[in-house]
Amino acid sequence: MYFPNIDRAKCTKYFLCVNICPKDVFEIQNDEVQVANPAQCNGCEACVAECPDDAIVVCDT
Ligand code: SF4
Repeated sequence: MYFPNIDRAKCTKYFLCVNICPKDVFEIQNDEVQVANPAQCNGCEACVAECPDDAIVVCDT
């Protein structure tokens, strides 16, 4: 299983991960990215590649 961790100290809220994720893992809630559907993550790391802040690390749990 994979889990995308978001570093809140780095995230400046471009929200590109929300749009690029093919599995709809992320949602915007209260102006923050939330990992709303982690079980759907397939580890593709598209979110990692897209994030301009280098704020996402995908862990293989
Ligand atoms: S690794 Fe892929 S499936 Fe998982 S959150 Fe990132 S973009 Fe979505």
